[in-house]
Amino acid sequence: MFKQVGSALKHQARNVLFLATGRPVSPTPISSMTLDADDVALAKDLLSHKDSWLDKKSVHIFEQAFCDFTGADEAASFNAGRIALSAILSSLEIQHGDEVVVPGYTCVVVPNAVTTAKAIPVYCDIELDTYGLDINCLKQRVSSRTKVIILQHLYGLVCRDFEAILEFARKRGIAIIEDCAHATGASYRGVKVGLHGDAGFYSCEQSKVFNSTCGGVAVSRRSDLMQRIRSFQSNASWPSEHQIESALKTVILNHYRFKHSDRWWRGDLALMKYGDWAYVSTTPAEVSQNTGVPGQVRMSGAVAVIARNQILKTAAYNNKRIKNAQAWSEWCQERSVRQPMIIDESEPIFLRYPVLMDTQYKRSPYTMLKHHGILPGDWFRSHLHPASIKLDDCPNAQIAVEQCINLPCLNDDD
Ligand SMILES: *Cc1c(COP(=O)(O)O)cnc(C)c1O
Repeated sequence: MFKQVGSALKHQARNVLFLATGRPVSPTPISSMTLDADDVALAKDLLSHKDSWLDKKSVHIFEQAFCDFTGADEAASFNAGRIALSAILSSLEIQHGDEVVVPGYTCVVVPNAVTTAKAIPVYCDIELDTYGLDINCLKQRVSSRTKVIILQHLYGLVCRDFEAILEFARKRGIAIIEDCAHATGASYRGVKVGLHGDAGFYSCEQSKVFNSTCGGVAVSRRSDLMQRIRSFQSNASWPSEHQIESALKTVILNHYRFKHSDRWWRGDLALMKYGDWAYVSTTPAEVSQNTGVPGQVRMSGAVAVIARNQILKTAAYNNKRIKNAQAWSEWCQERSVRQPMIIDESEPIFLRYPVLMDTQYKRSPYTMLKHHGILPGDWFRSHLHPASIKLDDCPNAQIAVEQCINLPCLNDDD
């Protein structure tokens, strides 16, 4: 509590400084912009109905809504996207020592899921058009021990070499897992991403397309895999009461900190009330890779209620993102900034709008606020964000680490 009061005071002092120097006190936030008053009302109601927190029916209703949105036949929810990935790796019956190709520009929790499955992550470089796996590098990284390729649709784009990678893997009998943590709702040739490979996973962590503070979903069109993913889910435990309370309070906290129009002061009030409950998505032990994926944990009924409310709004929010991305595209053209590629027959949803700009902006996003009036996201400050791990032989990823910032795709009036 004292810590929260301290940071609130510091924040308000900064606001005074910003007002004095003519900078906006609340620049457009880059995260939690889908949390509205109705989500807050649900979270408050759930906080006073503890008896409903482990309700399996709510989980089922969310999974059904997720299927309706993506067109999947079946979906299994977990307490995080990384656990959904664990479920998929387990369903693929990965053996000790098998190799799994992982993009060399991703979240550390992705290789953590691979090592948790006792497999070996083999890092592959990305391309700089969509920040997905580069097919030429992939061909060099694959060996006779490769069982799985994890490809990614980063920032809500559909990855450039998608078709080529699917075909390459199919010919060799290598399974494809689509990491759709950023791309819920994006599609390729009219089919949502996540449904093109052997399996796909999504995230509803607090910075993602839809947001219930924590959560993830696994899908597979292969019935053998889906059955094993389901059984992984039935054997999973529930999150702790503390985790659920933290997730619900963080919905309220993030609404006031990031979405509310008076967030410049209401955010601080919320921080004093709920700050001690703020949900930690990735623990220090995960970042330092001293631990793997945090358990075999399913999505709680309480979080599922929020996740369902969010997924019902995702199509509308994604349309706004797509519209705002068009404005960023023009912004890039006016300044000769390299913009992301939209591959033929794809419909990206632009969780964020990634651009390659001068390294000073990646080093200090506030420099971007000063020069351009935009506070960008700095996702992937390292090859395995947020762990400060540097990978060799991933030169494009290195460029992205140094130059790729991402611009917000939802505005205050959206
Ligand atoms: C966030 C993220 C994940 C993991 O999702 P969680 O729900 O946080 O476990 C996986 N891959 C990428 C690229 C991500 O950004």
